[in-house]
Parts: sequence; structure tokens; C-alpha cells
Amino acid sequence: MDIIRLITCDNAVEAHLIKGKLNNEGIDCFITNENTSTLIPYMNNMMGAGVQVMIHKEDYDRARELVKDKLQPDNTDIVCPYCGSHRIGLGLGNHKCMKLFIIFMALLNRIAMGNLKPMYYCKDCKQEIR
Ligand SMILES: [Zn+2]
Repeated sequence: MDIIRLITCDNAVEAHLIKGKLNNEGIDCFITNENTSTLIPYMNNMMGAGVQVMIHKEDYDRARELVKDKLQPDNTDIVCPYCGSHRIGLGLGNHKCMKLFIIFMALLNRIAMGNLKPMYYCKDCKQEIR
């Protein structure tokens, strides 16, 4: 029985709303990173970090259908608007060194950096897709 992440939320309130919705449908789930994300809110959304709702792997399809309005699209659904490629990744995108430096400085100085979120990028032409 494998446990997988269903969704990463911006805050604990959103995660608890999703957990309640899943529990009402009979899907067992639990929340992780709640305390860390609440105590250090400026680290939320940093490269996928945040309050996470975890479920059993066999419930994934049903749970995904229930929260589909909150999920990002699959990488396979996205086509690069610049070159038409289907090879799409999710990560820092372009200028990785600069973004890693910003993350390092934010950690060092404990400043907010919620605007630095993972983004889709084309693995062929290296363009960021917004
Ligand atoms: Zn491309």
C-alpha cells in the first residue's frame, strides 16, 4: 500500500478543505508539512514545498477527479507554443543559476520569496511556458 502526494497547497486551510472533501467521499488521507509551512510561511511554494495532502496510491484517480480544479495540468497535456514539442519539464526554467542564487540568499536572509515558483519549460527550445 503506497502513499503518494495528491496536491501541494499554499496553506493549511486549503489543505484541510481538500482533506475534508476527500474524507466525505470515503478517501483516507493525511496532511504533511503543515507545521513547517505554518511556522515558516515564506518558504511555501519554493520548488513545490508547502502543505501536502497524501493519499493511498489506489485512490489517486478518484481523488484527482475530486480536486481537478486545483491541480496543475499534466506535463503531457502541454505543447510548447514556440516549437510544438511535447517534451515539457517542470522546474526552475531558464536562468537556473540566478534563481538558485536567489533561493540561497532568501534562505540566508530569511526573506519572502513566494513569487519564485516552479514553472513549465520546453526541454527542446529551453523556453519558459507561462
Ligand atoms: Zn519548445
